[in-house]
Amino acid sequence: MSVLRAVKGMNDVLPDEVGRWQRLEAIFARIASLYGFAEVRTPYVEPTGLFVRTIGEATDVVEKEMYSFARHDESLTLRPEGTAGAARAYVEHAIHGKETVTRWYYVGPMFRGERPARGRYRQFSQAGAEIFGDPGPGCDAELIDMLVAFLGELGIGDAQVSINSLGSGDARARYRDALTAHLTPLRASLSDDSQRRLASNPLRILDSKDPRDREQLQGAPLLGEFLSVEDQDHFDRLRRQLDVLGIAYAVDPKLVRGLDYYTRTLFEIKGATAKLGAGDTLVGGGRYDRMIAELGGPEVPSIGFAAGLERLLIASELAEGPVGDRIFVATLGARAAEEGLVLARDLRRAGMRVEVDTRGHSLKSQLRRANTMAARVALILGDSEVEGQKVVVKDLAGHGQTEEPRSGVVAAVGALLATPAPRSP
Ligand code: AMP
Repeated sequence: MSVLRAVKGMNDVLPDEVGRWQRLEAIFARIASLYGFAEVRTPYVEPTGLFVRTIGEATDVVEKEMYSFARHDESLTLRPEGTAGAARAYVEHAIHGKETVTRWYYVGPMFRGERPARGRYRQFSQAGAEIFGDPGPGCDAELIDMLVAFLGELGIGDAQVSINSLGSGDARARYRDALTAHLTPLRASLSDDSQRRLASNPLRILDSKDPRDREQLQGAPLLGEFLSVEDQDHFDRLRRQLDVLGIAYAVDPKLVRGLDYYTRTLFEIKGATAKLGAGDTLVGGGRYDRMIAELGGPEVPSIGFAAGLERLLIASELAEGPVGDRIFVATLGARAAEEGLVLARDLRRAGMRVEVDTRGHSLKSQLRRANTMAARVALILGDSEVEGQKVVVKDLAGHGQTEEPRSGVVAAVGALLATPAPRSP
């Protein structure tokens, strides 16, 4: 029979990798809470219209990558990103009526039908945060500061922050016209993708890595030239705040990012290029001051970001974390096997990690198992020990062995674990 395989681009995380995931998620949750964010959990499936309206019809995500399906006469989509769902929940529960500023974070799987590669998957996980109700730019800098702290804790030393401003109001529309006017006479020299984008979403051409497109973009107008006085002031204040915080950044006038909903501040953090290659964008974020109103809520200026967890795990040296001292309970004989489960339960109630033999193997094979799982202590219980209310305590790191009364064995093991294991020679 042929072996069934997981969907291409959707990966299992097996138990030996889960430890790193849990540490990464715990570090993010802790830093987010230090910065005043509370966790929100929204559905993995949303009405397709939510993403079409917020992300934009002429984007790669909506045009080509969404997992959409019909059920009960409704078009539904596996969420390709987290901001739209969070914004929908914010409006639906009228959070703006309950508090003036809302800080939410989320962690979870997203789905995009992209071409899989290292660091690019069809199911991937994002950790993200949103601030609703603060026009910035102070909180924009604060978000970037939080990300720098987060990446620092992960040991990603070479993170590079890029920022840009997309402006607000009609700045983007006027820029779009100017860019289209510049590129239209050069259309034949652009890549096939960009020829198509010229009509649908010319700003995306700025993202292109194709050398033909890069050449035609030389001398193209820059977004910065179209900002209003207020937009420019917002951007200048963001830059000043980042300087005061001591955060290094580069202004990238070609940074536009793939989603339509952004206004004003836009940022991206790249890192670990040696390990990630072209897909080295770890975090993307920006302001989306119009989205809440477009979803039927009031005018609520907002900003957010999302970081890809798989990429962060590739980029960081994060270890699995201390395994903790494990205990193995070996039993010999029928009564000892029964009492072994009671002993294991008593130790677990005291917070210790215990494995107990339930298969009646030989003592030799049980002790081999204790070594394989790197147990610090093996407890040996034979029928004669059960009779005498005793347990043999074997220190597998120190190689000593004592006999303890059954009533005091939990405390004795606890004391043994509290002493550091002798170094192996
Ligand atoms: P975006 O939502 O496109 O702004 O992406 C934000 C971050 O999510 C990126 O910087 C990546 O770290 C991560 N990401 C986006 N798409 C993928 C994908 N297909 N596979 C893995 N990570 C992704």
